[in-house]
Amino acid sequence: MKRLAVVSGKGGTGKTTVTAALADLACRDLDLVMADCDVDAANLELLFSPEVQETVPYYGMTCAAIDPGVCISCGACAEHCRFDAVLAENAIYRVEPADCEGCGVCEQVCPAGAVRFVERKNGEIYSSMTGIGPLFHARLIPGSGTSGLLVTAVKERALQEAAGRDLLLIDGPPGIGCPLIATVTGCDAVLIITEPSMAGRSDLERLVRVCKGFRIRMFLAVNRSDLEEGITGEILAFCAAGGITVAGLIPFDKAVQHAVCSHLPVTRMPSPASDAIAGIWTLIKREMELP
Ligand code: SF4
Ligand code: SF4
Repeated sequence: MKRLAVVSGKGGTGKTTVTAALADLACRDLDLVMADCDVDAANLELLFSPEVQETVPYYGMTCAAIDPGVCISCGACAEHCRFDAVLAENAIYRVEPADCEGCGVCEQVCPAGAVRFVERKNGEIYSSMTGIGPLFHARLIPGSGTSGLLVTAVKERALQEAAGRDLLLIDGPPGIGCPLIATVTGCDAVLIITEPSMAGRSDLERLVRVCKGFRIRMFLAVNRSDLEEGITGEILAFCAAGGITVAGLIPFDKAVQHAVCSHLPVTRMPSPASDAIAGIWTLIKREMELP
């Protein structure tokens, strides 16, 4: 089983659109499993209308809780909490779970031993079936801030399902933070989706630095490449200097927006973008020696 993650240095590059199109092509002759590791904005499900078969709660971080029967209302916890997570009303102290960062200071300063740590539900993980194969995805409760851990949990479930199959295709998170690192760890290759803008170019450089650190094979595609051909040229030169395989250029194409609005992968309708993504898939499939 090979593992391919589609990633981008920033949001809005069309990463999920490309992932969905690749999945639609891959399923035609491969045994495919998909994982949506963009847990802060999981959108792959919108294009494949999955039927959820299992939902499991996700407990990422514990948070502090005050036992009112033990608390002597001294206020030390509220005074020392740097995140203003301890609230007091009529001398009754409690922790607001959404604001608690789990640092443990309140437990340290409490003279009565009234603080303990309890599990907090941070989200849900879904095992689903789509028309083209299993999909693992998740929802993070807003403010939970543990998306890297949730990505790892989603990936673990997807990897179990993908054992003995041909390909695990991952829709990765944008950026270079903890969720990205959790996504690309253990992958055989990444496909970086970028766009020809100054922000896209600088975010690409940071992303490439991170991926190089993990010694992961990198493919790159420039989405809407014809909108700023000068910057596209700079990106291609950057790839040539860094030994990054350019898998293809995807032209700006209104068919993409039409496909997204219809909740369909763009590869379901003939168009220049669809043709370009088909070329990208052919190259990646060959280079990754997929069956
Ligand atoms: S664990 Fe830290 S953040 Fe949470 S309530 Fe205690 S002091 Fe505040
Ligand atoms: S420090 Fe302990 S005893 Fe004091 S208010 Fe907080 S929980 Fe209650």
